[in-house]
Amino acid sequence: MIPYGKQDITQEDIDSVLNVLTSDFLTQGPKVPEFESAIAQYVGAKHAIAVNSATSALHIACMALGVDEHSWVWTSPLTFVASANCARLCGAKVDFVDVDPATGNMCPKALELKLAHAASIGKLPKVIIPVHLAGHSCDMQAIQQVASQYDIAIIEDASHAIGSRYHDKHVGCCQFSDICVFSFHPVKIVTTAEGGVLTTQNSNLASKLKSMRSHGIDKNCRQLLRPDEGDWYYEQHELGLNYRMSDIHAALGVSQLARLDNYTAKRNELAKQYQQRLSKLPLDTIEPLSNSYSARHLLLIKLHNPTKRKQVFNAMRQANIQVHVHYFPVHLQPYYLAQGFSEGDAPQAEALYNQLLSLPLYPELTPTQVDYICDTLEALL
Ligand SMILES: *Cc1c(COP(=O)(O)O)cnc(C)c1O
Repeated sequence: MIPYGKQDITQEDIDSVLNVLTSDFLTQGPKVPEFESAIAQYVGAKHAIAVNSATSALHIACMALGVDEHSWVWTSPLTFVASANCARLCGAKVDFVDVDPATGNMCPKALELKLAHAASIGKLPKVIIPVHLAGHSCDMQAIQQVASQYDIAIIEDASHAIGSRYHDKHVGCCQFSDICVFSFHPVKIVTTAEGGVLTTQNSNLASKLKSMRSHGIDKNCRQLLRPDEGDWYYEQHELGLNYRMSDIHAALGVSQLARLDNYTAKRNELAKQYQQRLSKLPLDTIEPLSNSYSARHLLLIKLHNPTKRKQVFNAMRQANIQVHVHYFPVHLQPYYLAQGFSEGDAPQAEALYNQLLSLPLYPELTPTQVDYICDTLEALL
């Protein structure tokens, strides 16, 4: 079976992890800050905070921005459920902004209209969470321009997008957002097995995030109530969690990060081959905006005829090609149906979902395998 995504583990990765296992610190040692600095430097952010998953990162991002049971948070319907669940974990209400059918990303025009309506009924969101589907950056400048009119904070869900660029700057530099979140799950661009990182330019948010990931305890961040208690003493000032990344995971991340640009270059080469091979078939490949470079987490195609999707999916799997579909619209998940959502709430996302198919894409995929995948697809269409 050709999988749809696959991690790449080298001897350097293994050595890096083994070195931690035989060192003094399995967690809270030097590897986590090393990983954080490497990411901050790579993306051009002042701060990077490592946690145990992107789901945790999204959760504490919402907490740090003050999301609570009185808040609304808006995200994209074409995403993994975690992009919406983070708001529910803070007790907030969630709503979904429809997507641009060309990219599957949050549509700035739809956002503008929805915000104008929300303002008129007094239900403006506190935070919006655009998602860079497949690693293709959203039109962040347009999104930020609209959101800033209403003083709304922005969290980028860049789980697919480490190594991506927008306007010649790395996703994660937060030029058009408050916080950016990356995932390091094995199917993503770079892996720590499980893990996530938040980046921000805002020092205040950074110290809140550090506190939230470790029980609400931060030794350095604020004035102690009892400064003379002793060196053993720490204070908890707010409610946090244990969302820390271990040094074992960070060591894998540090080692992987050195190959990030090779990974995205390889993924882009393969995507180009797909694009050329598929250009005459009754489908479109989903491409990034012209002013951006995508890390190419997923190779998404949009079939012209949605009634064929299931048959094509099954036949491809029969041919040992693990195609996938990203994503079933979040608002139609039973949990969100129970919150009052229904079909028709995001018509563009729903229509696009019916056409989408994800083809295998990972650095070790060979041009011969891409040919086999394209031949198989061509015969089916
Ligand atoms: C993978 C993913 C997440 C969650 O990442 P984890 O690190 O597995 O928690 C969140 N959002 C999107 C869009 C993702 O693809």
